[in-house]
Amino acid sequence: MPYLCSARDDTKIYKIKTMTTIIDGKLISLQIQEEIAAEVKAIKVNNGKIPHLAAILVGSDGASETYVGAKVKACEKIGFKSTMVRLSESTTEKELLYIVEGLNNDADIDGYIVQLPLPKHINEHNIVQAIAPQKDVDGFHPQNIGRMALNLPTYLPATPYGIIQLFERYKIDTAGKHCVIIGRSHIVGSPMSILMARNNFPGNCTVTMCHSRTANLKEYTLKADILIVALGKPEFITAEMVKDGVVVIDVGITRVISEVTKSGYKLLGDVKYDEVAAKASFITPVPGGVGPMTIASLLMNTLKASRKEIYD
Ligand code: NAD
Repeated sequence: MPYLCSARDDTKIYKIKTMTTIIDGKLISLQIQEEIAAEVKAIKVNNGKIPHLAAILVGSDGASETYVGAKVKACEKIGFKSTMVRLSESTTEKELLYIVEGLNNDADIDGYIVQLPLPKHINEHNIVQAIAPQKDVDGFHPQNIGRMALNLPTYLPATPYGIIQLFERYKIDTAGKHCVIIGRSHIVGSPMSILMARNNFPGNCTVTMCHSRTANLKEYTLKADILIVALGKPEFITAEMVKDGVVVIDVGITRVISEVTKSGYKLLGDVKYDEVAAKASFITPVPGGVGPMTIASLLMNTLKASRKEIYD
């Protein structure tokens, strides 16, 4: 167990535990959804345009179906319009580009997503590039990534945007802190490194980016005031790798077999939760931490798109 300090007399050791705040992503995500729902009500009262999100799903990958289904359901719950475009696995790149072009030109659709991964015969990069940047509510278009790097208003990718919201809403101090990020994917690690370094709140950190080729990883994790972990290896970060008082954001989600759950599996993060939580000042659990925030991020981006907040 962690101690901020210990005081000793002849007979006893008095130990003062670090207070750990468990970051409740589920709660924050619901709060954001309620806030957006209230805005949609106000738009309706004023006869404004109801935000409209479309989603393209190619093929019938089970996980993708679940993700898209959850996004469409969230839209309905908060009062957005939603359109689901289902395409067969055999859809060609040319056909998909034609559909994308159609959504770009559809004035009623404010923003849309193309659920990734796409079938192997379709070049994802070509599809993402074809999305009109002003409708790219996933924030994957190179123009929006460039705007993020320049600290200009943009659509932030869902997971980093969700993490930023957690820092904001829990008022976690980031300025001047050493933020260590593990993982350099385009959807999590790389954008997080940009966001945490920029001159903003949250941000203004000194950032160290670690990845699969980093030598002596523990040397870096031990120096982290803020540790953002996105590598996809369950329970990889242990207590001996972090210092007392660290802020831990665990992005990893891995489904592992479990003999105790009804479903026969459970979700694990990249952090050995119990032992690391005992040392942390703030920590996100898995599930219930970063995961639920992604839908909230998409809805926030869609609201921005309908308000023409970023591009007019
Ligand atoms: P990825 O799977 O594309 O890549 C993993 C990264 O980890 C790579 O950059 C690699 O360099 C790094 N890495 C691998 N082994 C390492 C090691 N031993 N030491 C240091 N770095 C190492 O990354 P991703 O797509 O960002 O996914 C990471 C995890 O986050 C996965 O578990 C994924 O399911 C999860 N994820 C969760 C959410 C969410 O909403 N919570 C969103 C996206 C991804």
